[in-house]
This record gives sequence, structure tokens and C-alpha cells, in this order.
Amino acid sequence: MHTQVIQIDPDHIDLSSIRLAAQKILDGRLVAFPTETVYGLGANALNGDAVSRIFAAKGRPPSDPLIVHIYSLDQLNQVAIQIPDLAYRLAEKFWSGPLTLVLPRNESITPAVSAGLHTVAVRMPSHPVALALLRSANVPIAAPSANLFSRPSPTTAQHVLEDLKDRVDIILDGGRVDIGVESTVLDLTSDVPTILRAGGLTLEALRQVIPNCVMRNVYLGEDESAASPGMMMKHYSPRAKMLLFDGERESVLRSMVDEARRHHRAGVLVFDEDEGVFEGSGVATSRLGSESDLAQIATNLFSAMRDLDQKNVDVILVRGVKREGLGLAIWDRLVRAAEGRVISK
Ligand code: AMP
Ligand code: MG
Repeated sequence: MHTQVIQIDPDHIDLSSIRLAAQKILDGRLVAFPTETVYGLGANALNGDAVSRIFAAKGRPPSDPLIVHIYSLDQLNQVAIQIPDLAYRLAEKFWSGPLTLVLPRNESITPAVSAGLHTVAVRMPSHPVALALLRSANVPIAAPSANLFSRPSPTTAQHVLEDLKDRVDIILDGGRVDIGVESTVLDLTSDVPTILRAGGLTLEALRQVIPNCVMRNVYLGEDESAASPGMMMKHYSPRAKMLLFDGERESVLRSMVDEARRHHRAGVLVFDEDEGVFEGSGVATSRLGSESDLAQIATNLFSAMRDLDQKNVDVILVRGVKREGLGLAIWDRLVRAAEGRVISK
């Protein structure tokens, strides 16, 4: 398979390119496309063979279910059944946007999408290229992040190409994505609405509509994946071992400097405020942005991890963020990338 990369300006979408990509989807092939969260690797959610190509291309275990994307509320019935009123209220407020709802699955959605579960995860992305593709194909599109399994999620078309060259038919290159971390996954099939994964929509925003919603916060080892789909600990990881430091800034920075000295070539995911600390020390740095700007940190997070990997560091050190707003999703990605190695100071 040869991968074709097609540039698309999200502000002036060329419909002939979109039609070409939509036809690939209808032919059962794979198309990577930008969403507002990260790049997705899409296939027709009604076609079992097409969906199995996603798992093969990513090396993703079949026990890890995919998110189905739609462009209009009219399509929701094709994806899910027994849709509660709350789903429509949430959709009205937060769609299109980075909120995924887990609902009972309509049988038209191929079981492979949901790893055999009777539920399905569904969302309406807001990126104009994603919406144009969905509208043109006019079928629900299953799409996980367009990276190799357990690698950092892609926030540019270049990242997709790095991981999936010749494993995907078309990459629609709509430039760098906006949010940079994946959607918030909310389970509406449990007794109490439960956040299964922190993401681009904050807990605080969700609580305005569902004050009683809770957050499940478990990190599982790979062998336990079946118990809780797709919530494995090792995820979003750079190649180098990562260590996450938590605690008061001064003592954290001191231990990071000490730790860096113990390695041949250390890399640091660095906040603007901390850059001076590592200057001239021989460590490789990649900037996350200002510590106080969580949106900027989210945007930069995965590409900064990839950047340090390309600098061939043997360890990556990072200081934790405050765990509120987007910080919850960022913290979650950091813990997973560090495979749970959190050093408290
Ligand atoms: P990704 O598409 O790579 O962003 O990952 C999608 C994630 O959504 C999975 O790893 C699960 O955590 C979650 N998910 C998808 N479908 C379901 C489902 N039916 N039930 C629970 N969680 C789901
Ligand atoms: Mg993913």
C-alpha cells in the first residue's frame, strides 16, 4: 500500500479531495484525518473488514474499542440505541466537540468497533475537515488516534506519516490540531454518569450539566486490559523511559537536575518558567509552554515527547501540572507515558 498525503486548508476545503477520501472510506480502506483533538485513523464503522484494518495498521489489541464519529445528530440512531435524554442535552451543549459518549450499541455498528461490547463510544468532532469527510462519506466512521499502538498520539500529519507510512491509504493534512489531547470519554450506561478518560472537555464543564458525574481513575497493567477496555497503563509513551516528578517546584527541579546527571543524555519536557534551570547543563529540552497555560501544554505535549525521542535521549524528565481543568487530561497522559513512575517530592 502506498500512502497518499493530501494537503487541505481547513478554511477553504477542496471538496474533490474530500470526495476522494470519502470514496476510500466507502471502499473499506483507511483515511487519516485531523480532528480538533488529535489525528484519527478512520474506517467505515459499518464494515467489519475495514475496521479490522485499523487494528492491524496500529498494532492495536482487539480488546481496545474505537470511537465512532458522526457529523449530525440524525446519525446517532444509526450508532446507538436506547439513547437517554441526557445524551441529547449533552450533545446540544458540547457537540460538536471533544466529548465522547458511551451508549448501548446499535447492531449496525460492527462488533469489532466495540471490542465485542454491547456499548459503543460516539462523538461529533468539530474540525471542519473531519466534518466534511463524515458528511461526504455519509457513514459513521470509527477512528482511534492515528499512531502506532502505545506511541504518543499524532497532532500533525507528519506524526501520522512517521508511524503509519504505507499502512494507511490517505492522510488528509489539515495542519497542526488545536486541542492536542484526546476527547473526554463519558459512560452513560452506568448507574452514575462516569468519566472513563479525562480529555479535551473538562470535568468542571461537564459538572455544569451533570453535577453528579464521577471520574473513574484507575490505571491498569497491560494484562488487565480486558477488564476495562483501553485503559492500559502503558500508553502514549515515548521510546525513552519517562519519569514524572510531582511536588513543590524548587525541590522537584533539584531532583530533576540530580536525576539528569545520572544519565548519558537526559531530555526534559520543560515549562517556560523552568528553562533557565537546565540551560548549559547538556540536557536536551523540548518546550511545553508556560506552566500556567494548560491549553498550550496540551497542544504541545505529544509533539514534545516525539521531539525528545528524535533527539535520542535515554530518559525523559517532566514536572507535573496542576490537576484541574485540562490539567486532569494532561496529568493522565503524563502518568501513562511514564508507565506510572511518579516521583513525589
Ligand atoms: P482512542 O480512539 O485511541 O482515543 O481510544 C478510544 C478509547 O475510548 C478507548 O481506549 C476506550 O478507553 C474508550 N472507549 C471506546 N469505546 C468504549 C466502550 N464501548 N466502552 C468504554 N470505553 C470505550
Ligand atoms: Mg489512542
